[in-house]
Amino acid sequence: MRWSSLFTPTLRDAPGDAEATSHKLLVRGGFIRPLHAGHYTYLPLGHRVRAKVIKIIQEEMNAIGGQEIMVPTMHPASIWQASGRWDSMGDVMFRVQDRHGSDNALGVTAEEIFATVGAELSSYKQLPQMWYQINTKFRDEARPKNGLLRVREFTMKDAYSFDIDEAGLDTSFDAQHQAYLKIFGRLDLEAIPVEASSGNMGGTDSVEFMVRADTGEDEVLICPNGDYAANIEKAISTLSTIEDEAGLAAPEKFATPNIRTIEALAKAGYAADRQIKTMVFVADGETVLALVRGDHQLNEQKLADATAANVVRPASSDEALAALGARPGSLGAVGVTDLRIMADPSLRGRRAMATGANEDDWHYRGVDVNRDIAVDEWVDLREVQAGEACVNCGAALGMVNTIESGHIFKLGRGYAEKFGAQVLDKNGKQVPVVMGSYGIGVDRAIATVVETHSDENGIIWPAAIAPYEVVITIVQMKDDDSVAAATELYNQLLSAGVDVLLDDRDARPGVKFADAELIGIPHRIGVGPRALAEGNVEYTPRATGDTELVAIGDIASRIQQAL
Ligand SMILES: [Zn+2]
Repeated sequence: MRWSSLFTPTLRDAPGDAEATSHKLLVRGGFIRPLHAGHYTYLPLGHRVRAKVIKIIQEEMNAIGGQEIMVPTMHPASIWQASGRWDSMGDVMFRVQDRHGSDNALGVTAEEIFATVGAELSSYKQLPQMWYQINTKFRDEARPKNGLLRVREFTMKDAYSFDIDEAGLDTSFDAQHQAYLKIFGRLDLEAIPVEASSGNMGGTDSVEFMVRADTGEDEVLICPNGDYAANIEKAISTLSTIEDEAGLAAPEKFATPNIRTIEALAKAGYAADRQIKTMVFVADGETVLALVRGDHQLNEQKLADATAANVVRPASSDEALAALGARPGSLGAVGVTDLRIMADPSLRGRRAMATGANEDDWHYRGVDVNRDIAVDEWVDLREVQAGEACVNCGAALGMVNTIESGHIFKLGRGYAEKFGAQVLDKNGKQVPVVMGSYGIGVDRAIATVVETHSDENGIIWPAAIAPYEVVITIVQMKDDDSVAAATELYNQLLSAGVDVLLDDRDARPGVKFADAELIGIPHRIGVGPRALAEGNVEYTPRATGDTELVAIGDIASRIQQAL
């Protein structure tokens, strides 16, 4: 490609609303342009990067037996209603009505759809199967931002495995896990596999692939000894035990005028770790009490996972009043028998605790949790903090910011049962297949590479996905010898199959070099009269920025070696 013909509108300044590095550089470099919030056009350079990322993903999927198919992006509501996710997807799913008034969804993911395709399977002899697509997905984000990192329309590779039993699923899941590590390796991303919440996917296990980045919005707890890593929505830790005093024979009510917070009650002499924090939630219409220790924070995703409800939300102050007779600040679970009570295990066996008395401005003290509170379920609800002890080795856990770059799920038989993906097993019995689901966002992968591969001058693409591997910069267009030598080298590299860009623009060398750095071409060859007089060109790898003179006869093989 000759740069004089290339459409890449580079900008001196980043858009005013851009915070993330990848947002700034991809727009400035002319890779992408917003159509409106969360929807981007890929210009030629961006499109080339995207195609290369997709090719890597396809190669790794095909290598583990994946077969590429494509399913529709617009789905009838009935399919999502059958799985229960028409409701649980909530506001993130775009919904459209056709002219007949029928509801449709724009796909956020496609478990339901692939399960209907799986209904074509008939025998265990056809298994395992692994199908994938690379297709557009939609997500109605509340606040699309950070360029390609949080968008409403994006390209995702989603793969689905079909096995006869759990052992088969384990094998498929592991094959995907290994393929993901290879994909991220080829993108030069260091992905940390972590235990994660399955959210509303259902199923048992899930693993997220998280890439460390300061701009990342996902928090991961990680052990410095390398034996534990988990998303904050799933992370656990070891707590030191607290010795309680004997306590009272029964809870005792005491007046707490204007004391409405854990901190205020702590000031009144009841340490936060001797308090019970009671929160009211509504899970699919059912009122649920969630209890954690006063000094702990509840993780709402953990609660949502534990309730297994489709939609979980905090109750309003009025709903709390209706359920318990008091407003937040004076709530408690002592004596409550008509509501589902879920409590974090750190409260188990605790005595001499303080908690709200369900009467504004009154609390109880001397509460014995096991004796006085009718806990229905002991479930992990607590959000782990940095510095707490690793469950495997006791070391202090660190908290790192990451970008979620991939997520794989063991789904089990749920979708297959609902959509008739059944086969005859060895004994001639009809059984639902066991499914797995595996996703990587293409656009987010591109943005994540930029987040982790840049400097003050621009992007530093890994050669595998760079829009062009080499740029030949003609330093002075009016020097005929330079133009001739550069063009010959250009043709030589082209015929050797190298992705090469010839900067033949009539512009100052400084502008050309700055543009080449901004768009991040890994290898730059400068052809100018001074070096050429000695039979040399200037070779500059983008990553180091160090320029050396190389004989013009050697540069092609030198580049091919580097690639
Ligand atoms: Zn550890």
